[in-house]
Amino acid sequence: MISISNENKKDCCGCTACANICPKQCITMTDDNEGFKYPSVDFNKCVDCHLCERVCPIINKTESEEEPKEAYIVRNNDAEIVKNSTSGGAVTAFCEEILSKNGIIFGGAFDNDFEVRHLSAESVEELKKFRSSKYVQSDLTDTFKRVKKNLDDGRYVMFTGTPCQVEGLLKYLQKPYDNLFTVDFVCRAVPSPLVWRKYKELKTKKYKSEITYANFREKTYGYHSANLTLRFANGKKSIENTKTDYMLKSFFDGICSRPSCYECSFRKVDRVSDLTVFDCWNITRYVPTLADDDKGYTAVIVQSEKGRQMLKNVSEKLIMHEADVDTLIKNDGFMAVNNPYKHPKKDEYFKMLSNGAELDKVVQTFVPIKLSRQLLGKTRGILYRLGLLNRLKKSSASTRNSGR
Ligand code: SF4
Ligand code: SF4
Ligand code: SF4
Repeated sequence: MISISNENKKDCCGCTACANICPKQCITMTDDNEGFKYPSVDFNKCVDCHLCERVCPIINKTESEEEPKEAYIVRNNDAEIVKNSTSGGAVTAFCEEILSKNGIIFGGAFDNDFEVRHLSAESVEELKKFRSSKYVQSDLTDTFKRVKKNLDDGRYVMFTGTPCQVEGLLKYLQKPYDNLFTVDFVCRAVPSPLVWRKYKELKTKKYKSEITYANFREKTYGYHSANLTLRFANGKKSIENTKTDYMLKSFFDGICSRPSCYECSFRKVDRVSDLTVFDCWNITRYVPTLADDDKGYTAVIVQSEKGRQMLKNVSEKLIMHEADVDTLIKNDGFMAVNNPYKHPKKDEYFKMLSNGAELDKVVQTFVPIKLSRQLLGKTRGILYRLGLLNRLKKSSASTRNSGR
């Protein structure tokens, strides 16, 4: 009997390695009541080959290796790329390098229904869909098979994802490929796709129009005060922040993430990826001569020789400052090693949501947003234009860094 199942939820990060490797296609990834995908095994077709267990990154944990020693704080030279990226636009430079070798990029993106999936890109124009973080677990479907096919065909492939998705991919491939380049990010957790669906329903109803644009980290009011922004077919716009938004409040209050994220097996500084990226919130701490212009920087940890070579190859496209790995992790990448807070009412939250309650009612029941916060949220545009919002930056950054 195999141990792959949908029962021990905290022991499955949903990486899809088992489902993609199964030679009998008897594993399907199906949604649970929280909207997360878990493997469901058809034992009538199973031939007990145990391949699924052998590629599971949680059953087969990667031993820690030597801690990485090289890190940089990076910004893309192209101001337009920086403006439209979550942090400093470093990943776009890596993607462009792979594309210049006729490669293919796989990463999380919105599909036409604003569901988050791993999609591919083969041109610079297509890279736009990967820009900006997506605070939802991406659906990988058959991405691992597509990555392998391209690698076996001799093409350069770049895969970006959560640490568990990258480890799942490498386990699934079962052998190293020189033509594969991987980038993971420091990951707090992944919120439920069901919560995102409920959020979209709520907003569509409120604004009486279809969503035409979504960005979890739009820099409308600067990097440190990024917003979840939606635009609608009728021209209206919704701009919310971590304190006023139903989706972000649920996420940062630790009530809507995947069970495996609260006890993550992949939280460590040394990773199996080639490069690890995350937000650099405190540039002046590392480079005191620089003023923080509120546009964003990317912290990059070098995990392999391939990663080092990539940075060398794209150095003309980036402004780079050397940084100390431990200091970076302590100040900006602490989620690489610390699990997030788990709200004690998480199960009740999902029970109410899956019973059909609207997201605003569920949020106001379990993680209420104060009216004062909502009012303050509505004045952010004015505060920003008056230059007063910047004074609140430090307090919001410290909340983000508090682990909750
Ligand atoms: S044991 Fe083999 S056949 Fe059975 S589910 Fe796992 S991979 Fe598929
Ligand atoms: S962690 Fe990945 S490989 Fe392991 S059971 Fe879950 S989906 Fe399958
Ligand atoms: S927190 Fe851990 S388990 Fe959750 S998505 Fe990130 S790497 Fe995967």
